[in-house]
Amino acid sequence: MKTIGLIGGMSWESSLEYYRVINEETKLQLGDTHSAECLMYSFDFHYVDKLQHKGDWKKLTDEMVKQASNLKKAGAEFIVICTNTMHLMAGSIEEKTGLKVLHIADAAGEEIKRKGLTKVALLGTKFTMQGDFYKSVLRERHNIEVIVPNESDMMIIHNIIYKELILGKIDSLSKMKYVEIINKLQSEGAQGVILGCTEIPLLVKQEDVSIPVFDTATIHSKAAVRYSLTK
Ligand code: GLU
Repeated sequence: MKTIGLIGGMSWESSLEYYRVINEETKLQLGDTHSAECLMYSFDFHYVDKLQHKGDWKKLTDEMVKQASNLKKAGAEFIVICTNTMHLMAGSIEEKTGLKVLHIADAAGEEIKRKGLTKVALLGTKFTMQGDFYKSVLRERHNIEVIVPNESDMMIIHNIIYKELILGKIDSLSKMKYVEIINKLQSEGAQGVILGCTEIPLLVKQEDVSIPVFDTATIHSKAAVRYSLTK
């Protein structure tokens, strides 16, 4: 079993899911009293949030590289970043630490292809929806077309993440807003929807919509276990 180095706390609400799924999946694969060999560095999200909204991605990259290096020193054999947004610096982490970063968009892409879909909607923070670092992985490595909400719907999605989900608030009105936006994207041709922020699966479930949902926190956690168990 390879030791998994988790960079979490973004937010801790979803890191909890990673820790739970990774251990459950390891037990499922190996049976008996098995659990995952893993280490986690958990950020104070307030610090991350402030730098993100200030646009200080340079400082955030330095912080992420520093924590990945510490995990390596402590024995991590590959890195799992427990958030979609912070995959912006996945390349820098690989380059500076020499460790593999198991990319969340690759894990999602594999799952979407397994379901035979070619065009999906992406919901996440505005950084994930507007930037190309995430969409390009799906497009270039997996040949998947990605559509995103319009500008005002993007802000609804983004604000609910930062003002509610990250604070552990699950609100039925917000769920309705998400479902409405997903239905709109479905009418624009989306065959499925990527819940491309690790807190969204706490709000939107498969039974809420009629197209397949891709819960990136669970998909990524299971991919981490598969990778940790490959020789
Ligand atoms: N967990 C969220 C994500 O998957 C947002 C938190 C962050 O900005 O890292 O993107």
